[in-house]
Amino acid sequence: MFHRSSGGGDPMCSPAGSQQQEPPLIDLRQVKKAYKTPAGDFYALKGIDLRIQPGEFIAVVGKSGAGKSTLINMITGIDRLTSGEVRVGPHAVHKMSEDQIAAWRGQNVGVIFQFFRLLPMLTCVQNVMLPMDFANRYHTLKERRERALYLLEQVGIAEQADKLPSAVSGGQRQRVAIARALANDPIFLAADEPTGNLDSKTADAVFRVFEKLVGEGKTILMVTHDWDLASRLDRVVRLADGEIVADTEQVSVLGAPHRLVEANRQRRAPGGWTDA
Ligand code: ADP
Repeated sequence: MFHRSSGGGDPMCSPAGSQQQEPPLIDLRQVKKAYKTPAGDFYALKGIDLRIQPGEFIAVVGKSGAGKSTLINMITGIDRLTSGEVRVGPHAVHKMSEDQIAAWRGQNVGVIFQFFRLLPMLTCVQNVMLPMDFANRYHTLKERRERALYLLEQVGIAEQADKLPSAVSGGQRQRVAIARALANDPIFLAADEPTGNLDSKTADAVFRVFEKLVGEGKTILMVTHDWDLASRLDRVVRLADGEIVADTEQVSVLGAPHRLVEANRQRRAPGGWTDA
């Protein structure tokens, strides 16, 4: 296994050796997050530096309370950082207003949670259509439904489209949530314990959906407690007490290029960002 201490902004440290790395898709600099508590400010993140290249599939691991969810919340703009910088593609997330962040996230980021967070009164296909309704990216109802059905097919549950979430299994609900996260064709997915509520066989099937998406060009950051799943990834970032204590990349001893990053570099069309 190849170890390195940072997310790899330095082209000379590229796992490919001589290859020049493209700019990171996600670039965190000295990110700190303090929560107000009766005992004073509590720093859940203590100065995170992390760079993620387009096409990477990264596991974020660490004990409960290490700061994993807080990290996801900083990158996706779900919560505001206390100091530091978060850049995603051309967007300086730390400089945006709440309204700008909401619009940006709706169009560029797919977020997946442990407990799915589907709306129970909407059918599976309607749940997937919802982010499209908010972003107004796919204009007609017919277009949105067709896209939602296509996405449900991609995650293998098109036949459940018109059922309510309560009528499908946990693994199927998570697939609906993944399809919903893909609704506006985001450039990256942030998943917070997406398999934490699933049995190991179902977790494996959901994980394979993520692998397929990375193979198709998505970038995924996945918080997980499941070491079996994490060990299957090219890169594992370990947090402890609000700091990155390890950042590994599993490449061959010969220094072969990062498997998925390289594949996606070939595939990725220029641009791809939607302005907030
Ligand atoms: P993890 O996802 O690794 O379990 P979290 O990011 O949820 O960790 O939390 C990191 C630390 O920040 C924990 O000690 C937690 O108790 C604390 N924390 C999280 N949210 C809040 C909050 N809103 N107010 C105060 N402390 C918080």
